[in-house]
Amino acid sequence: MSCPICAGIVSDKYKPFCSKRCAEEDLGKWLKGSYRIPVNDLEDIEENEKNPKEVRTFIN
Ligand SMILES: [Zn+2]
Repeated sequence: MSCPICAGIVSDKYKPFCSKRCAEEDLGKWLKGSYRIPVNDLEDIEENEKNPKEVRTFIN
């Protein structure tokens, strides 16, 4: 078994992570992920709409 963040060797103290740093990173991802679930689709749409605009601006 390896750390899901960095694929390092898992520490018993920070299972299933290798270190406090990776555990906190995963927690941060999880919190961001759950926080973003309701907004995620909208953000994807906004990004898809922004990109063509940016391209157009760049071309003009
Ligand atoms: Zn790790």
